[in-house]
Amino acid sequence: MRNFAHVNARSIDEAGSFLRRYGDKADVIAGGTDLLGKMKDEVLPRYPEALINIKTIPGLEFIKEEGGVLRLGTLTRLEDIGTDSMISGRYAALAEAARRTASPHIREMGTIGGNICQDIRCWYYRNPHNRFPCLRKGGGRCYAIDGDNRYHSIFGGSVEGGCYAVHPSDIAPALIALDGRIKTSKRTLNAEGFFEVGVEKTTVLDKDEIVTEIEVSTPSDGTKSTFIKFAIRKSIDFPIVNCAAMIAKDGGRVRAARICLNAVYVKPYRAKKAEEVILGKVINEENAEIAGSSAISDAKPLSDNRYMAQIAKTLVKRTILACK
Ligand SMILES: Cc1cc2nc3c(=O)[nH]c(=O)nc-3n(C[C@H](O)[C@H](O)[C@H](O)COP(=O)(O)OP(=O)(O)OC[C@H]3O[C@@H](n4cnc5c(N)ncnc54)[C@H](O)[C@@H]3O)c2cc1C
Ligand code: SF4
Repeated sequence: MRNFAHVNARSIDEAGSFLRRYGDKADVIAGGTDLLGKMKDEVLPRYPEALINIKTIPGLEFIKEEGGVLRLGTLTRLEDIGTDSMISGRYAALAEAARRTASPHIREMGTIGGNICQDIRCWYYRNPHNRFPCLRKGGGRCYAIDGDNRYHSIFGGSVEGGCYAVHPSDIAPALIALDGRIKTSKRTLNAEGFFEVGVEKTTVLDKDEIVTEIEVSTPSDGTKSTFIKFAIRKSIDFPIVNCAAMIAKDGGRVRAARICLNAVYVKPYRAKKAEEVILGKVINEENAEIAGSSAISDAKPLSDNRYMAQIAKTLVKRTILACK
């Protein structure tokens, strides 16, 4: 690993000014579980000269519910979210997603802010020493289109650049299904609008912008949420496909539905067609099956990942049935 400066920030403002001072040669570090691995492997052409440590900023690690809103500081660790009984009770999708993320060790270090800002896992992109300088690193081509694309997007590539790497977060679809908000040092964003695809970029954040807090409004009575993940290993593994749903019912029929898949597209993928199909219906096997099929009606799998569409369909169906 190469040398770099490690700067302890004392406030969000100070962290922002350090980031501006170093320009694109600095990164924020929280738990370090994603960032340090990338640096050790020298995955990117750009190596940071400085890491701006935000763990030294007081008041960024908390779980509070006040005024009908769940508030989580960006440094809140995934383990604390997964084991919190209030979150498990009223925001089940989020707690289940946190419990299914990575391993106990990583959940103890990894923060919610770091999880939604984590980088992609495409094996060409992550190959050590920048062996495949692909589009997503500012290079000239995508190696996955004609290469090994077993775990890549089934809904097409990014409009800009044509990258097929999926977004790997388990937390992201839960926040989108729960209609969460991301507060940063500059603005408040809907969780759905937070994710973006660009060269070395997975979010809309500016280079000097820092996530400070995540908010979720408390779901109304009669609303259920859930998260289901398919991964090859049960103990520690990124999702092949995951899905979160929040469904509100009135008189036994669906009044509102938000369903979000992840690891199937370059950003978390809102299954809007499934939401439309299930609206006004009773939740049963037949209706959930139709909604699952609608969710994948726009799928355009690559040469090796057709199986992911079938998994996505089944997860959409199962999350709907779990919200019965
Ligand atoms: C072996 C392994 C298995 C894993 N399995 C899963 C899995 O199954 N599901 C899953 O969802 N994830 C998984 N992960 C990813 C893991 O959840 C993330 O690494 C972790 O959540 C990142 O949090 P962190 O605090 O360590 O972030 P860091 O590594 O410190 O940062 C990650 C990125 O986010 C940026 N960042 C961090 N905090 C902020 C902030 N407040 N504002 C702006 N930018 C910020 C950093 O600059 C960096 O680019 C796995 C990781 C590993 C190493
Ligand atoms: S899918 Fe994206 S990250 Fe992977 S090789 Fe292609 S351009 Fe690079």
